[in-house]
Amino acid sequence: MSQDNPNSHTDDLPTGINLLHDPLLNQGTAFTEEERDKLGLRGLLPPKVFTQTEQAQRVMENFERKPNDLERYIFLNALHERNMNLFYRVVTDNMDKMMPIIYTPTVGQACQEYGHIFRRPRGLFISANDKGRIAEILANWPTDNVRAIVVTDGERILGLGDLGANGMGIPVGKLSLYTACAGIDPATTLPITLDVGTNTQRYLDDPLYIGLKQPRLRGEAYDELIEEFVTAVQDRYDHTLIQFEDFANINAFRLLEKYRNRVCTFNDDVQGTASVTMAGVYSALRLTGGQLKDQKILFLGAGEAGVGIANLIVSGMMEEGLSEEEARAQCWFVDSRGLVVKSRDNLAHHKLPYAHDFEQMGDLLSAVEALKPTALIGVSGQPHTFTKEIVQRMAEYNEKPMVFALSNPTSKAECTAAEAYEWSDGRAIFASGSPFDPVEYKGKTYVPGQGNNAYIFPGIGLAVIAVKSKHVTDEMFMAAAKSLAEQVSKEDLALGRIFPPLQDIRKVSAKIATAVAEVVYKQGLAGIPRPDDLLGYIKTQMYDPTYKDLTK
Ligand code: NAD
Repeated sequence: MSQDNPNSHTDDLPTGINLLHDPLLNQGTAFTEEERDKLGLRGLLPPKVFTQTEQAQRVMENFERKPNDLERYIFLNALHERNMNLFYRVVTDNMDKMMPIIYTPTVGQACQEYGHIFRRPRGLFISANDKGRIAEILANWPTDNVRAIVVTDGERILGLGDLGANGMGIPVGKLSLYTACAGIDPATTLPITLDVGTNTQRYLDDPLYIGLKQPRLRGEAYDELIEEFVTAVQDRYDHTLIQFEDFANINAFRLLEKYRNRVCTFNDDVQGTASVTMAGVYSALRLTGGQLKDQKILFLGAGEAGVGIANLIVSGMMEEGLSEEEARAQCWFVDSRGLVVKSRDNLAHHKLPYAHDFEQMGDLLSAVEALKPTALIGVSGQPHTFTKEIVQRMAEYNEKPMVFALSNPTSKAECTAAEAYEWSDGRAIFASGSPFDPVEYKGKTYVPGQGNNAYIFPGIGLAVIAVKSKHVTDEMFMAAAKSLAEQVSKEDLALGRIFPPLQDIRKVSAKIATAVAEVVYKQGLAGIPRPDDLLGYIKTQMYDPTYKDLTK
């Protein structure tokens, strides 16, 4: 593939069986008569020439026939290895069906069983034993043109904990979403797992586990490995986004602070989550009519997601005129030990800015009653924690309370969509992390919003790659949030849906990327001159899975 245009053809095209074995170029039975003659394919394919649409129909027939979602995951992976364009055609055209398979929740199960369903390796594995040789390993990757890396150390995979090297399913899945949702050229993406061991006994005991059988690397040795990795990526590639994914919060915040002003990087668990939730709040404000600075937000859970969201909300409130201190005073946290207040001992570093001078209270209900928040945001991973009484209190204090139960997967949500609507007598503005079906309540249909990070990170990635941004800043996540909220239609809002339909994601991502790229130029971080028509330029950078004529 050419360096700059994801839709142009390669100059040194393989032919014959090599072409059929190249997943980036293979079109299988859709190769035309002319291509079959010119590219040495005659006889290697059955005579009937199919269209890509017909091939996609066949894929969907086989997809539906699989007995369960894990088998569907394996089937789609095999398609990806055979014919990448067809894989992305099918995924893009059936986003609602495919997203839960290639990403959460099925990807979680796939990771847990990775060693058992393993067929062919995807991406790069760099282990703790490779210290001093990471540049050499990166050189084994077959292309010089890598624009997006997603890297994990497998310690906090979704809500599933330490899966070690099995975590590879996450960078693979996430990069598929970059391509499906925002048209990042799949030929330029690189999933990486840093296998630094695992503390999960089940894997240490499993004969089919694919990773190092040793406890996790910690401390200086761990930091040195990450440093060597980041440096090696900078040395090998001209401009590459490095997205850190599913690191435990003891490392996630630290690494973000260490590298965010040095390389082009972000952490989706912290910043992507913040942006999509911020978009949900802005959309909800279109329904309630209030201003951000007047909200009082209570979080259940003070980890990567919660603190990331609060930090962005503080920036938003400051844009509306509050000081940082005033804005922080509007954000409150309840964690596993109760309300986060100044008098508590041993508070983690990331919670300190939100530890207020207030009496200590041990449970969420007391905190809701004492603070009377306008929004309740659940990012605790603890199901059934937004009880009937709590939601009812929220509805007493607010005409339209925001109730966001963001914990994943569905089984971990703080409350269900139906509970939120019923307990608030249909007044709650509800969003969740995992999808919930529409709810009928007193003759009205409510469509819950899914605060899926996939609304944000692909557009951010597309922007920073397209204009070669040096860094990824909080202002970019703010611009993405505003753009996403603006793209929610009045019709969506009338149904209670505070995010646009997932099926429109490519259009949504292009607009988000344009808004983000504007910020890149405003902040003087771009690596190319500003195109006159930024949206037009961004669109030309988007990979399209439609087959091209390979003879031209
Ligand atoms: P984390 O491990 O960094 O933080 C979890 C926090 O919850 C910690 O502060 C912990 O003290 C707190 N907690 C644990 N038990 C609690 C309890 N009983 N009561 C109150 N607080 C409790 O994890 P994270 O990355 O912040 O993710 C948290 C949840 O948010 C996960 O379930 C994740 O799936 C979800 N999440 C959703 C989205 C989304 O919807 N877009 C994005 C990211 C994370």
